[in-house]
Amino acid sequence: MLSKSKKSEVVISKARSPKECFIKGMQQLGGITDYISEGDQVFIKFNLNLPGGFPTNTNIDVLEALILSCKEAGADKIFLGSFPKRGIPIKIISDFLNLEEHFKMLGAELVFLDNSENFNNRDLNQDNLKKIKYESLTKIQINDNEVFIPNIILNSNKLISVNQINVNPLFKLNLSILNSFSIIPPKNQVIGKNLQRKPVNDQYKKELITKILDVFTIKQPDLVINDLFYVLEGAGPFIYKDSNLKKTGLMVFGSDAVSVDIVTLNVLNINSDESELISLAQNRNINVPKLSDIKILGEKLEDSTNQIELCVSELTNISTKNVSIKSGKYCSGCFKQAYHLLNFMKTYMGKDLKYNIDNSFLIGKNPLEPEKKGNIFLFGDCPINSTKDYDFRNIIIEPKKKAEKKTKIKRINESKSKKRLKIKKKPNRNILDLPGCPPKIFTCLELMLKYFGKKNVPNLNLFLNLNRNWTTGKLIEKLKSWEEL
Ligand code: SF4
Repeated sequence: MLSKSKKSEVVISKARSPKECFIKGMQQLGGITDYISEGDQVFIKFNLNLPGGFPTNTNIDVLEALILSCKEAGADKIFLGSFPKRGIPIKIISDFLNLEEHFKMLGAELVFLDNSENFNNRDLNQDNLKKIKYESLTKIQINDNEVFIPNIILNSNKLISVNQINVNPLFKLNLSILNSFSIIPPKNQVIGKNLQRKPVNDQYKKELITKILDVFTIKQPDLVINDLFYVLEGAGPFIYKDSNLKKTGLMVFGSDAVSVDIVTLNVLNINSDESELISLAQNRNINVPKLSDIKILGEKLEDSTNQIELCVSELTNISTKNVSIKSGKYCSGCFKQAYHLLNFMKTYMGKDLKYNIDNSFLIGKNPLEPEKKGNIFLFGDCPINSTKDYDFRNIIIEPKKKAEKKTKIKRINESKSKKRLKIKKKPNRNILDLPGCPPKIFTCLELMLKYFGKKNVPNLNLFLNLNRNWTTGKLIEKLKSWEEL
């Protein structure tokens, strides 16, 4: 058990390569033997996604150096794992990046937390699958949330979090507290469908933070490494048109995740008091030290600060070609999804939108009326339900003027005929509902493809075809049934 003073020690390490930076940081922290004992079972929580640009996953050189250090310290077993984004089995990512083999060579084991290493087994029926699933997970009730945690994480003597820092549209940065959230299956991470949810008071974000902190308190890491050697700034955390790779050459280490996150925020010139994750952690009896109470070793904080460009906080700042954004009152759920959808459209659909003009993107409750009636996208349940009586729902049919024989007669009858003219309307068919609270991005893209037609949006069609290579097939079907069990 580490002492309280030890918990508030944080190291800032700087070097020329990520591996060097890791080794130097660990030495400054006192060495791995302060954290790993002979015979320990170690679980390393890292970032695991299909590569969507660099850096989206934890740096492999750093993982290698960490595995070797744990072995030197006498660890008996070293496991690595994480749940990726919903819909992709770990087996697909592992095969694509050759992770299982690579970690095996180093004497560690990639854990298929979703049991996807079994999905190719033809003899595996629903009952077997259910048995495997529930033997590998433990159900934990915490406050109002019921979550499943892999037994291998609960049963490991030591938990290490190696977290790739990038910008984040909701929380400014992907902090290590967020990294802890993906120790539970993606289906558990979803904020429950709350039919009473309203965009006021940002109920979505409150529910999300509560759940993230619930999961964090179940098993906090013994050692945390925030890797900001390379950071995707601007429109990150994925590669979008406005994303930019920044090299800081830095990593932040410590045994207390909150302290490591506070120092990381300050290194990147962000006031940690502005982080809702950190400030709300205080209400949960999580120890949140002041920056002045954290002992910083290694590089000095004032010599290490870097200015980075954060994600935009206003959707209108994502200038997407031929798309006009009309906002009402919306919450973080729709903001996050719209942020990614608009950045996707800007990055990959530039040519498509060049020829499909006058698009209006309505978001939130009671959005502004669009000026043009080209294509109108209603993003989320709020604009779908609150715009039923809006003008854009109908097209006014201009009455055809009959040729008047005589100007004189025309003038005399002008007022009468005005009264007689009935305004005719027909329903506007150029409206696309993108339902959800909040909507799912890939469902939105599929709906947009259907709305425009393949020939009219060839770039979107190509992207979705490529994407279907990952999101269809037997492994995916098995994962879906695993998640629904
Ligand atoms: S539809 Fe979007 S803005 Fe409205 S409550 Fe749901 S998540 Fe929030």
